[in-house]
Amino acid sequence: MKHSAVTVGLPRAMLYYRYRILWSVFFQELGIRTVISGPTDREILEQGSVLAIDEACLSLKIYLGHVRALVDKCDYILIPRVASLGRHRDMCTRFQALPDLVDNLFRNSGQRFLSYNVDLSAKRDEETAFLELGRALSAAPKEARRAYRTAKKAELAHHKARVQKQEQLCHQEGLKILIAAHSYLVEDPYVGRTVTDYLRSAGVIPLRADLVDRDAALKRGMELSPTCKWELSREILGGILQRRRDVDGIILLSAFPCGPDAMVNELITRRVKGVPMLNLVLDSQTGTAGVETRLESFIDIIRLKEGKL
Ligand code: SF4
Repeated sequence: MKHSAVTVGLPRAMLYYRYRILWSVFFQELGIRTVISGPTDREILEQGSVLAIDEACLSLKIYLGHVRALVDKCDYILIPRVASLGRHRDMCTRFQALPDLVDNLFRNSGQRFLSYNVDLSAKRDEETAFLELGRALSAAPKEARRAYRTAKKAELAHHKARVQKQEQLCHQEGLKILIAAHSYLVEDPYVGRTVTDYLRSAGVIPLRADLVDRDAALKRGMELSPTCKWELSREILGGILQRRRDVDGIILLSAFPCGPDAMVNELITRRVKGVPMLNLVLDSQTGTAGVETRLESFIDIIRLKEGKL
């Protein structure tokens, strides 16, 4: 079956940073072209801020700006609903509400949206969700299943390679700082990446708490909090425990206002002892100068403490 005339837009924000390989290989296997919104910039953030309510977190504002940037540029825009990945493995409510929110905000745009629904608490797993996604694009179940399995394999291999790269960085000589943040925040070029770029420019090796073996991190995360039910937060908790002995400091990097991070970061500061920590909250007004000043002082404090200044 050929679908090459159909284009699907992928907003370069939020779960894109977790599932980009899964999505792009799945659509590619079905012969469907994908269009990815450009890297976040001031305009995207401003457009998203206009669409969002004031209480929305920075990540959601950025996401809506990316959706806006794709309107009229593709046949469909993919807006997944990922609610639960298992018992005590919920996603933040923003991920549960995205399709409804976007449908409502863009109801007069004429743009069509595609979605899929992963909710293990209702026994809807990822493969079933992708078969439905394939059906919505007129792919035969066999074809969609093959595309999903190929894409899943590629996604796992890609993540494993990134984790291995982190392991190598752990063994390098030099000051190392672990960034505990959601991948969509730390990797976004307009917001979180300014932190990793600054650390590198200051001669620091940045490590990531979200780039770890996910199953192992979920289990270890229970040691810090047996009741934390947010999947991504539990992975980060486990990632901190896995890496804390390899690093000289930890940066808790959050988007304002983030409910899960507000609770989880408080827990981390109370329970993870013996390593300097910096709490950095980014919002749409945060300028790079303010962030750099705080990073500079944090690095100086670590170097002073270790007698390297
Ligand atoms: S976890 Fe926090 S940053 Fe991520 S979508 Fe939810 S509120 Fe926003």
